[in-house]
Amino acid sequence: MIPVEFDYVAPDSLDAALAALGGGGEDAKLLAGGHSLLPLMKLRLAAPTLLVDLRKVPGLSGIRRANGTVSVGAMTRHHDVATSAELGLAAQAAATIADQQVRNRGTIGGSLAHGDPASDMPAVLLAAEGSVTVRGRSGERQIAAADLFQDYLTTSIADDEVLTAVHLPDMTQFGHGYAKFNRRIEDWAMVAVCVMVKRAGDGSCEDVRIGLTNMGSTALRATAAEEALRGQPLDAQHIAAAAEQTAEGTEPPADLNVSSEYKRHLARVLCRRALEEAVGA
Ligand SMILES: Cc1cc2nc3c(=O)[nH]c(=O)nc-3n(C[C@H](O)[C@H](O)[C@H](O)COP(=O)(O)OP(=O)(O)OC[C@H]3O[C@@H](n4cnc5c(N)ncnc54)[C@H](O)[C@@H]3O)c2cc1C
Repeated sequence: MIPVEFDYVAPDSLDAALAALGGGGEDAKLLAGGHSLLPLMKLRLAAPTLLVDLRKVPGLSGIRRANGTVSVGAMTRHHDVATSAELGLAAQAAATIADQQVRNRGTIGGSLAHGDPASDMPAVLLAAEGSVTVRGRSGERQIAAADLFQDYLTTSIADDEVLTAVHLPDMTQFGHGYAKFNRRIEDWAMVAVCVMVKRAGDGSCEDVRIGLTNMGSTALRATAAEEALRGQPLDAQHIAAAAEQTAEGTEPPADLNVSSEYKRHLARVLCRRALEEAVGA
């Protein structure tokens, strides 16, 4: 439970953080809330030689709306996301993360950069078709959610880049629902499903987005279920039929608590519940 010895710096600007990160080489790591990294270090599953703490870097926290898009600073805590009236589905999902202590420290940027498929926020970003801004020493770039999550705990953010902001498009015309199954109320998701549904003028489904948590090595979209519902009436029968497609194409790994087949079953049930919530059924 004691990490390997490491150096620690807390720079007071983004440029200084990038310089420290670059100077530390491949064994340097950024520290945000520490609620994923520090447990790994204590278990000696990670042994960075340098931690670059982002807590003093100005401008990395806060929630702003501009031209419909909501931008959330990478160091914004889960609690602030969960209690934001701007954030709809993202707020709903963040409110289910662990307990109040974790939500007070953990950050949206750390959660996305960590790339854990069992975390709640990656599937939300994917379903919303959002993006992130990352800064390196040679400048800034945008990464679409679909290109961000590469594999288990692996993202397309380079070792010497900092995720600075998360962008969520205007989803105010979408209803949303979130269904998460865990053994105890504050546990990680065995499976979770997030859903956004837009009604057409005739009441049918104009658009639907479905994100899956813990159904593979990364967060996923349930594209077969989305295609099954798009253009259809939003009634119980069509919702149930679409939800049956939720696990199509997924290969969820079994773990200590749950088999792959049970995860597929959970995904179908949770998707139906989240869709019903999203359409107010
Ligand atoms: C008991 C417990 C229960 C939990 N349950 C849940 C849960 O139910 N759902 C859930 O989603 N999460 C859960 N978490 C994880 C929690 O949400 C973490 O806060 C989150 O995964 C990581 O965010 P962090 O700010 O703590 O990042 P850190 O732990 O500080 O960092 C995580 C990784 O991201 C990198 N990183 C951090 N910030 C940046 C950045 N700005 N740019 C680039 N890289 C960066 C770090 O170098 C590190 O590799 C739980 C954690 C604990 C301890």
